Amino acid sequence: MLEGETIISFPYQPAKVNHGYTDKVLYLNLSDKVVKVKDVPPKVKEVLTGGRGYGLWYLWQAVKPETRWNDPENELIFCTGPLSGITQYSGCGKSHVVSISPETGSANDNNAGGYFAPYLKFSGWDILEIQGKSEEDVIIFIDGNKGEVKIETFPYQDINSYLLVEKLTEHFAEDEQDKANISIVSAGQGAQNSLLGILNFSWYDRKRGKVRYKQAARGGTGTILRDKKIGAIVVKYKGISSASNNPAYPQLLKKAGERITKEILALDHIQNGMREIGTINLLDHMNTHHCLPVHNYQYGTHPEEVRIGNQVWKERFAQKQPGDSCWIGCNLRCSHAVDGFKLKTGPLKGKEVIVDGPEYETAAGFGGNCGCFDPDIILEANFYCDHYGIDTIGVSTTIAFLMECYERGILNQERTGGLDLRFGNGEALLALIHQIAQGEGFGKIAGQGVRRCKRYFADHFNANPTFLEDIGMECKGMEFSEYVTKESLAQQGGYGIANKGPQHDESWLIFMDQVNKQIPSFEDKAEALYYFPLFRTWFSLVGLCKLPWNDIEPAENKQKYSGITAAKVPEHVENYCWLFEGVTGQKITSEDIISQSEAVHNLQRLFNLKTRFGTRKHDAIPYRAMGPVTEQEYRSRAELYDKQLQEEIKYSITGKGIEEKIKALRKFREKQYELLCDAVYQRRGWDENGVPTLETIKRLKIDFPEVLAVWQNYHNNNHNNK
Ligand code: SF4
Repeated sequence: MLEGETIISFPYQPAKVNHGYTDKVLYLNLSDKVVKVKDVPPKVKEVLTGGRGYGLWYLWQAVKPETRWNDPENELIFCTGPLSGITQYSGCGKSHVVSISPETGSANDNNAGGYFAPYLKFSGWDILEIQGKSEEDVIIFIDGNKGEVKIETFPYQDINSYLLVEKLTEHFAEDEQDKANISIVSAGQGAQNSLLGILNFSWYDRKRGKVRYKQAARGGTGTILRDKKIGAIVVKYKGISSASNNPAYPQLLKKAGERITKEILALDHIQNGMREIGTINLLDHMNTHHCLPVHNYQYGTHPEEVRIGNQVWKERFAQKQPGDSCWIGCNLRCSHAVDGFKLKTGPLKGKEVIVDGPEYETAAGFGGNCGCFDPDIILEANFYCDHYGIDTIGVSTTIAFLMECYERGILNQERTGGLDLRFGNGEALLALIHQIAQGEGFGKIAGQGVRRCKRYFADHFNANPTFLEDIGMECKGMEFSEYVTKESLAQQGGYGIANKGPQHDESWLIFMDQVNKQIPSFEDKAEALYYFPLFRTWFSLVGLCKLPWNDIEPAENKQKYSGITAAKVPEHVENYCWLFEGVTGQKITSEDIISQSEAVHNLQRLFNLKTRFGTRKHDAIPYRAMGPVTEQEYRSRAELYDKQLQEEIKYSITGKGIEEKIKALRKFREKQYELLCDAVYQRRGWDENGVPTLETIKRLKIDFPEVLAVWQNYHNNNHNNK
């Protein structure tokens, strides 16, 4: 086994976890080779709660408005929350990561399952804050039982995750049993050579006796890991128990845990089947409701979806009901995998591997959006994206865009270096993934993501920039995740107004809006876009997985409550109040959950302002997210569009050609989007430009001097520009 050489050894006395917190930050500077301990200031704890709140706070202190993602002062911050590591309730192992994103240039947050965050906290650290850049590849090793942080040289040739995490687990474990006490963060050469890098967070699958991983995937966080020349971060901690958080009232955790477990075991198989097929259960629904992205979001459904639909994965997933859990005590067990998949391409060609997933997003992206309705292509793309450390959403949305450019003649084989990028060409898709990872050929351009490809094609291939803006599915520089939003104004706002970019983890209102028609007015939509993004934010403050909130619901939920209230799943909200009180000792209400989140959500919006984003113009989305750009798209749902023109817009379609109808519809839908922004900004306590007002900042107690300075600076500049 290869040994790294120790560069730094930092012995420490692990802080005891007190009611969910250690109040300690582990700070590493890889440029200066400095390791320090910081205390979390009491006001930061009181106002920002933990997790993403802490991450944003420390990142704010570290960076200047002009800091770019690859400047040494940019940080990678790994956050735990006060509820991280609970073993009595489902979904308590999430890690949250904060940094300046290579894709968006602003504050980005990400989350992943796996054991990393609990092990980090029980090793004595609420936060791991990494700044600076190493000159050579290193491994950061935290031994939470011994109380030692080490930075070592990286002794391996291959930085890609699949084999690396196995080797590192072997290396740092004393024996087979000890492997479960290790969690590793890694990326790969794709993260190094593109802007689409992810972080893989490992966990030990006892049933298989294998290491597996979950991804923090959006915005290029893995690219920063590699830019800092970190080969891997390893945390080792032995001794997890239900008392590890030193909870104030353990009986509350037991009460909430027993209630959710009973519900999951009784109802999951008749609700979403998370234990059976996980998030991929959405595929068939999305196809039925015209929300599955097909051919770069042109269409929302496809007859070949059946080839990659739910039934296919039921047969492919190795572990039948129940699946696996990515943290101890999760009974939703949605972490499915395909075992013994024989790779047909790339550096591991011929090897039989475990493919983690696919999740809905991956199958929808490569299957529908790129038109590869072939489970083997999806699995191979899924495996290599994870292995190379690149984002399946970012990569599939980018390739779908490139495929449309190819079909429309903006690209050709000369420009792609010989790749025939027609929709559905799985061979070309896989070849491009390998090129992105290696930073070679056309992969060098593709790996920059949709926003930069658009600019490149306009500058170098004389493509029409307006058309590229219309069809290139990104906002703030981040690629859209895999939902067609044309018929859901609320989800358009959910994507466009999201702090970090168009990622569904901030809000997912498509069903409530488009299918169930529960939020018809602007006020209803604005209220939903107030409550739900804030509620979802809370998971990232306290260290939880969102899935057990509403991917399962009590049997009587819809009888007891109606409409939006039912969608909040009040009994689960009550569980979360019990969990928070049970661990921290602080009694909270459902309203407190929202105000805790609102402080952090607004801080992130103001962070965007600090980095010169965070205003209305940055919430603009491509027209394809709102309506049909091309005649083919219009024709595919002509009846629906004609009806809206006549009934809602009172536009006479008699004698009108498709081009005129597209124009009229566009004018209306673009106006609707602006009106939605007005309503949402008002509901959130922001000004008409989307900036939190002074009153909001004070109400949320985020009036830290450095925050007020950013707000004041914006107002001074705005005033001067008038
Ligand atoms: S619901 Fe799924 S992703 Fe969430 S903690 Fe459980 S197994 Fe992991």
